[in-house]
Amino acid sequence: MTKWVYVFGGDKTEGDASMRNLLGGKGANLAEMALLGLPVPPGFSITTQVCTHYYSSGQTYPDTLQGQVLSAVQAVEEITGKVFGDAENPLLLSVRSGARVSMPGMMDTVLNLGLNDTTVEALARKSGDERFAYDSYRRFIQMYCDVVMGLDVGEFEDILEDYKEEHDHVLDTDLSADDWKAIVASYKELVEEELEEPFPSDPYEQLWGAVGAVFKSWMVPRARTYRKLHDIPEDWGTAVNVQAMVFGNMGEDCATGVAFTRNPSNGEKSLYGEFLVNAQGEDVVAGIRTPQDITEAAREAANSDKPSLERLMPPIFDEFVAVCDKLEGHFREMQDLEFTVERGKLWMLQTRTGKRTMKAALKIAVDMEAEGLISKEEAVSRIDPAALDQLLHPTIAPGAELDVLTTGLPASPGAASGAVVFTADDAETEKANGEKVVLVRIETSPEDIHGMHAAEGILTARGGMTSHAAVVARGMGKPCVAGAGSVRVDTLRGTMSIEGRSFKKGDIITIDGGSGQVIAGQVAMQQPDISGDFQKIMQWADELRRLQVRTNAETPADVKAALGFGAEGIGLCRTEHMFFEGDRIIAVREMILADTENDRRAALAKLLPMQRKDFTEIFELMGELPVTIRLLDPPLHEFLPKTDAEIAEVAAVMKVDPEDLRERAMELHEFNPMLGNRGCRLLVSFPEIAEMQARAIFEAAADVIKRTGTPVLPEVMVPLVGMKKELDIVRDIVVRTADAVRSETGVAFDYTVGTMIELPRAALRAEEIAGSAQFFSFGTNDLTQTTYGISRDDAASFLGRYQEKGLMEKDPFVSIDEDGVGELVRIGFERGRSINPAMKIGICGEHGGDPASISFCDKVGLDYVSCSPFRVPVARLAAAQATIKNRS
Ligand code: ADP
Ligand code: MG
Ligand code: MG
Repeated sequence: MTKWVYVFGGDKTEGDASMRNLLGGKGANLAEMALLGLPVPPGFSITTQVCTHYYSSGQTYPDTLQGQVLSAVQAVEEITGKVFGDAENPLLLSVRSGARVSMPGMMDTVLNLGLNDTTVEALARKSGDERFAYDSYRRFIQMYCDVVMGLDVGEFEDILEDYKEEHDHVLDTDLSADDWKAIVASYKELVEEELEEPFPSDPYEQLWGAVGAVFKSWMVPRARTYRKLHDIPEDWGTAVNVQAMVFGNMGEDCATGVAFTRNPSNGEKSLYGEFLVNAQGEDVVAGIRTPQDITEAAREAANSDKPSLERLMPPIFDEFVAVCDKLEGHFREMQDLEFTVERGKLWMLQTRTGKRTMKAALKIAVDMEAEGLISKEEAVSRIDPAALDQLLHPTIAPGAELDVLTTGLPASPGAASGAVVFTADDAETEKANGEKVVLVRIETSPEDIHGMHAAEGILTARGGMTSHAAVVARGMGKPCVAGAGSVRVDTLRGTMSIEGRSFKKGDIITIDGGSGQVIAGQVAMQQPDISGDFQKIMQWADELRRLQVRTNAETPADVKAALGFGAEGIGLCRTEHMFFEGDRIIAVREMILADTENDRRAALAKLLPMQRKDFTEIFELMGELPVTIRLLDPPLHEFLPKTDAEIAEVAAVMKVDPEDLRERAMELHEFNPMLGNRGCRLLVSFPEIAEMQARAIFEAAADVIKRTGTPVLPEVMVPLVGMKKELDIVRDIVVRTADAVRSETGVAFDYTVGTMIELPRAALRAEEIAGSAQFFSFGTNDLTQTTYGISRDDAASFLGRYQEKGLMEKDPFVSIDEDGVGELVRIGFERGRSINPAMKIGICGEHGGDPASISFCDKVGLDYVSCSPFRVPVARLAAAQATIKNRS
């Protein structure tokens, strides 16, 4: 027979903390506290399996449930010496929901269940306090009607308010027993009127009503929405906890409160919490009365004149501190507790792992390691890498007043204020004038890069989390709100409107890339605080991880930022990013539009010194750390002049007729540029490009070695290879150029040539390709596009629906698709290593900064991940967690 019900309390306890999946978080921990000998009111948990059964069998219970609940109630009766529904000594119960993880949206707790016209009299007699009994009764009716019967609480509150007004009462505490009796009578009348049946007086009917309501609440829209947002599966179900009541509202020697064993906002090791004298349950958080501090120190700090628990009830305080220590030591985690004091006796009602800010999380982990409570591995494992972002960027100061205009996608974390500009050029000009700007675009394209660099933050009306703006902004570590649909941009007029409010160039706005909010005006910011605790955790992470962490960077600013964040090399230096800067784009366009090899060489000759200078700077910054430089990769169309002005500009430099140039540009038009003449295909078509780039790289290397003596290590990477022959052609050019530069400069530099694996064919033929490659780097962005046949830039129109329909759990451009794309990574890795066991293999692209994908890379056995500079700390931590997890 399946066991559906588990008792907790004294030596009858049947569950424990390990049974969270079955008993829910609350139930499992109540059982654990009972096992520890702590004062827990006895009760029982109805398992999450009952919830699953309830929904899979047309909202009915298992046959044996009723009998098991009856025996559990009897067990509670035996422990308490009270009897449920008894006219002399009634047992009252609370009915509480409790899923595996705490979940707002679930049913509110019903307290004082079991009261009716008979038992309330008994409660009055036993407690010697009629007022208390009737106060509890009216609370029960109101709560039950609200959460079980679905009546509007407002009407109950109206009755109470009207009554108080009529009788000149201000506070609830002014009401006498007779007052509450009268109110109870009106409440019951209201129920009869609304439901055409009396309020249920049978305690068991009440109990089953409340149990059913908990299970029903699992499927209410707010609970479903919450689950969807937090990836909580529907079939987990909730448990129901039924527990003997204890009363914090029986007089001045009673109280109820909540506490954290450490400070949840700064992590300090001091008890932190609030309580109310003579109050029940939710009164503390409800805000009807101002709660008091638990410790004397907190009371002094808050300058409060209300006595602390420490002062008011010293023995209870001492006992509570001991309970906190015991629980924290037992769970080896900061606990969030609920307690009630009934006539001078302490009762524990809940304990769970406490939520905390990132700052507190770091401090608590470091402190607990020092206290010997947890190991370094555990300390490192407890920090959420995704949340580290909170620490690395300025954020909106807590308590700042916000005039929120709209909310878009939180595309890149951090907050920024600045004057609105609508073009990349304006961003650059205004920045040069000393102005801080926010670049607002319908969407961004590669031509906006310089403006994005100049801006404090970026706001786009269109595009998803993996749009150009989002990806580039994250790479730069700039705040970005993307896809803010209600932002209407009129670039020509230099205005935008948001929800009917209009802004022009120069108006100040603030964006919060962590929340997606767009805010009018300047807002107070809080600067990032990378304190000693952060350093400590990162140091431990570095000691533990197996994967190396490199960065994707090409500008000196990014390289410096990445080194500051602990990057151990550059995994991807995208040379085309260097092509968009300043006047260079004109020379690039010249090169592309040239009709003959000679003209092309002439244009390339202008680019050579510029590229060489870029590489020199990077090598100087990186020293002996490896630098992977990818040869020109993007589709040509990204460089083509588009407007008449752009065409005229290039035509003038090239001294050709603009019309001819326009025609040449048309010839280069491609239907599907992402699958067109790009990557190594471009280098095969125009070997001079590879030659110029290789020369720039090697001359820079030779120069730095000669001047500084540092043995720099360029790794030349050929993109989009599908066949070994393609690689061989480009490789030959690179090797020949290296030989030439060696003999010209007399510097014997080292270098390697490798390839990206970003096409399924390359992964499948990795064994062959490895014969010509000294390293592989999985370009998982393109590999995802080509494996799925989904264009990343067009995915937004259907990916959302796919996720809704459960076709895809996560966006495959954010977190690697282990089954498909991952399989190709494994194949490529194994086949490559089978030929070349020493080959360095890594991954670059967005996935390199995603914790789940990093764990996958660790499992496969890759050597490194490479990610944008601001993700480097995230990747270091995630890599350590991956090693810890995958090793065990
Ligand atoms: P939540 O998950 O919203 O915290 P809880 O089930 O923990 O809901 O309960 C809500 C309130 O009721 C809490 O303040 C809790 O301490 C109080 N409460 C729950 N059970 C009892 C009980 N058996 N006796 C007294 N108070 C209780
Ligand atoms: Mg609670
Ligand atoms: Mg690519």
